[in-house]
Amino acid sequence: MRLEQIAAQVVRCQRCPELRAYIAQVAREKKRAHMGSDYWGKPVPGFGDPHASVMLVGLAPGAHGSNRTGRPFTGDASGDFLYPALYRAGFASQPNATDPRDGLQLRGAFITAAARCAPPANKPTPQELRNCFPYLVEEFDALPRLRVIVALGAIAYGAVIKLLRERGFSFDPSAAVFAHGSELRTTKGRRTVVLIASYHPSRQNTNTGKLTVPMFDAIFTRANELLARGADEDPSRAARARGSVHPSSRREPPSSSETP
Ligand code: SF4
Repeated sequence: MRLEQIAAQVVRCQRCPELRAYIAQVAREKKRAHMGSDYWGKPVPGFGDPHASVMLVGLAPGAHGSNRTGRPFTGDASGDFLYPALYRAGFASQPNATDPRDGLQLRGAFITAAARCAPPANKPTPQELRNCFPYLVEEFDALPRLRVIVALGAIAYGAVIKLLRERGFSFDPSAAVFAHGSELRTTKGRRTVVLIASYHPSRQNTNTGKLTVPMFDAIFTRANELLARGADEDPSRAARARGSVHPSSRREPPSSSETP
């Protein structure tokens, strides 16, 4: 299925009636700062280059960010941190993302999420994540050039692990642990996809210094390195070659308490 067809299905999706009611309510009530805006108020489809070699997977739309603008990471603090990093790494045509008519284009990158409707308190339920998972699989299938996936946060990481398993990729399960800067090499026949884990660029993470600009830039620098060398490079060998894993790497169990 083509990305446009998937996007059309996502926008019409009613698999989670409570979520659809919630995002419609948010769109009606709005936020004081955006009282003059026409909210999107529907599921938010993926966005980016149909020939992408890198896919970013977030958690879910922000209630007053992409639920307002209709494009991932557009119009909120997370996007204000993400798109400048993508621009510096050469994946975005401009650093700012304010609305879908701002001219932003992605080059070699595609952005999607584990859930496509903004959930209350930024926490989709396990059932909502299961309901939305087939769209992630369809997007993956529609992007045959993908070689690197960047998971933004532990919930997105879990969704990508499930995706790679679903599509028959092999990997060392003991290495599939969410840690900022960690890499998981997965293979299926002659194809290799490397999963890179990153903290989510939520305001909570960036304001507290849990995720800094250098830490985030290192993620996309590494994605570019993998693409330049061929993503089949062994991450452990690459880490030894660089002297160590990224200094910000800290092993953490997947957590559902993380904000998007
Ligand atoms: S979260 Fe996903 S599955 Fe649920 S209604 Fe929104 S688009 Fe559909």
